[in-house]
Amino acid sequence: MTHTTVYAARKILTMNPRQPEATHVAVRDGRVLAVGDLERMKAWGAFDLDERFADRVLLPGFVEGHCHLKEGGMWVWPYLGWFERRGPDGRRWPGVRSMEAAVARLCEIDAEMSAAGRPADEPLIAWGFDPIYFGAERMTVEHLDRASRTRPIVVSHSNGHLMTVNSAMLRWAGITRDTDIVGVMKFADGEPNGELQEPAAMFPVQRKVGNAGLLAPMNDAGMQGFARIATMNGVTTATDLVNRLRDEDLEILERHAADASYAVRILPAFQAFHGTHGAADGARHVKALAARNSDKLRFGLVKMMLDGSIQGFSARLRWPGYFNGAPNGIWVTDPAQYEADFETYHRAGLLIHTHTNGDEASEAAVDAIGRVLERAPRPDHRHTLQHGQMIDAALFRRMAALGLSVNLFANHVWYWGDQHAEVTMGPDRAERLDGCRSALDAGVPLAIHSDAPVTPLGPLFTAWCAVNRVTPSGRVLGAAERITVSEALRAITLGAAATLKLDHEIGSVEIGKRADFSVLDDDPLAVDPMTLKDLRVRGTVLSGRVHDAPEL
Ligand SMILES: [Zn+2]
Repeated sequence: MTHTTVYAARKILTMNPRQPEATHVAVRDGRVLAVGDLERMKAWGAFDLDERFADRVLLPGFVEGHCHLKEGGMWVWPYLGWFERRGPDGRRWPGVRSMEAAVARLCEIDAEMSAAGRPADEPLIAWGFDPIYFGAERMTVEHLDRASRTRPIVVSHSNGHLMTVNSAMLRWAGITRDTDIVGVMKFADGEPNGELQEPAAMFPVQRKVGNAGLLAPMNDAGMQGFARIATMNGVTTATDLVNRLRDEDLEILERHAADASYAVRILPAFQAFHGTHGAADGARHVKALAARNSDKLRFGLVKMMLDGSIQGFSARLRWPGYFNGAPNGIWVTDPAQYEADFETYHRAGLLIHTHTNGDEASEAAVDAIGRVLERAPRPDHRHTLQHGQMIDAALFRRMAALGLSVNLFANHVWYWGDQHAEVTMGPDRAERLDGCRSALDAGVPLAIHSDAPVTPLGPLFTAWCAVNRVTPSGRVLGAAERITVSEALRAITLGAAATLKLDHEIGSVEIGKRADFSVLDDDPLAVDPMTLKDLRVRGTVLSGRVHDAPEL
């Protein structure tokens, strides 16, 4: 006879509208067998009563619909971000608040590398830097040459779309005044200034250093670090929203997913980057992989990209363009190519997530997808726009009509809201930044995300951003776009699950679904919404297996 465990909790918030609250949940074979009070559990026969959560509040396991496994793997490199950040080992990295401090930290690391006997030409890779906080002063090759003129230095920007390198790295990559690649930025005199925007410009560097960002190969420590961060933040299902899915990537994913103690379910999304492979080959590859799906590893997602990053000025904006007069951004994929490739993946039956940051890119995606759906209608496709930060009410209504979902980058309101209001898009458009209210009002299925490691993984923080819309300077950015705590909790559970076409399996505590819970100290619906981000997460349950958050 199959074993049943009943967990008693102070409260269970189920996300099932027919039964929003409960005190007990029965788990059998890794799934939810019953939800309710102790009496209801008894109807299913014998069980063990487990009271370890008796003082805790259980929610469905949080679903992060847009993050990257690299959240666990970036920490082998020094962090150069503006905001303090905590690594998977609990180490706190203070924020870097001046160009001097950035150069000083790089000097220190260069010295540490030399003292450790590491080769003088081994590249120094740092990450998390964002020039937008530094006003008019832009990091260039000259700053980085002050840290070293001999050791190649690569500073990846937090948005993942840009990097700044020193002269040793420019030489090694063969980038000169004669290099004719879009995105290789130059001084007025024609010499490269060290800044490289978007994949084509960064490629000569990536080829030499073996990737310095989201696509750098994962290792075991990084996979474990990611699972630890997920558990600490209540996340039981997470995407790796761009993965090349080569043999070596599959090996590490499958090995960890098969380990019973691995604490998070992973959905890697295939990188549909035109130029490395054709869409038809890509679609065949992903379809074949889907046959290898297991509980903790699910293939079938495809990631496409249209433009770049707003704060990196590489996103494509509609009229009147950037508030500070910067030229319009970059089509990472030409819209016509996007439409053709999208159609190929769509016709193969795959679920496509498209990165669109600027409103011109979001509109181009909606235009293209609209035409593809006319040629090749498919019910319940669940195609999703990712980020969609500048989408307005009219575009959300078009998305609803096409059956598109959105996963909005709510963390931007905190991390870049002030910069968007003052520098990139100006106050009017910043008010609708990541417009959760408009999306829901238009009937567009909504998820919200961190894009970790771009910002830290933490669905409760993401929910806090969508609910309060406050910025570091203290402004409330677009009060009309705020959503309620319940709506935000839905967006980080059932909403995100729906964008992954997994809402029949996860996202609520409901009979038949996976026994995935996040374990909290308090009821998020009962606390002051301004403290939502401070709620303590004690761990998770994934398919019935308990994972305690490490004490750091
Ligand atoms: Zn991303």
